[in-house]
Amino acid sequence: MILQSKYFVALTGAGMSTESGLPDFRSHGGLWYGKNPYEIASPKAIGTSEFIAFYRNRIEDLQQYRPNIGHQILAKWEKAGYLKAILTQNIDGFHQQAGSQHVIEVHGHLRHLICTECQRAYPADSYRKGIEKCMEERCNGNLRPPIVLFGEELNPDSWSSAVQEVEKADAILVLGTSLTVYPFAGLVELAKETGARIAIINKTETELDHLADIIVHDSIGKVLGEVDQALSG
Ligand SMILES: [Zn+2]
Repeated sequence: MILQSKYFVALTGAGMSTESGLPDFRSHGGLWYGKNPYEIASPKAIGTSEFIAFYRNRIEDLQQYRPNIGHQILAKWEKAGYLKAILTQNIDGFHQQAGSQHVIEVHGHLRHLICTECQRAYPADSYRKGIEKCMEERCNGNLRPPIVLFGEELNPDSWSSAVQEVEKADAILVLGTSLTVYPFAGLVELAKETGARIAIINKTETELDHLADIIVHDSIGKVLGEVDQALSG
């Protein structure tokens, strides 16, 4: 499928990064004061101690983990000219760390914080240093990561870039997402409508397996490693 394609893109989700050992967002559920992570990761929680603790922990988690072989293979395929873009739900930045250049982060990232009022950027370790409010004179806005919280709209620019990539694609590879979160999962439906071939690699069944030409329920790193060997051989 990759060799026959003219414009091949990858869509990635949490399963891509759990193979690095990074805890899944949902697996933090029980740890947070018995509260629902979906409530903590919401706009109305910005500025609360739970919100700050949650994202301080997420940012610190990232420093303890590294991109895995799956991220590295995608970066290699981009350099080799096979892969044109990665559209990711992940906010961990692992694709870029692995060397991928064309990455569209439709749910944002944790590389820095921004002021909710004046949009000034602050270093990602600001929470750890006790900086929780904007220091601009008379601003005092809350700091937050530039990510899409539950109930928030996607960034229209990154979303339209993602849609354009899928419209150009004649082959898409879906990695590590159960395709339950919309509008992201809608990209796979769009790919089907525009006639792209679809491959899904995920440990478990996904909501959109019925749209795929190729489905593999297995570890991403293992399967991509085998495909990479076949491409190289
Ligand atoms: Zn500010």
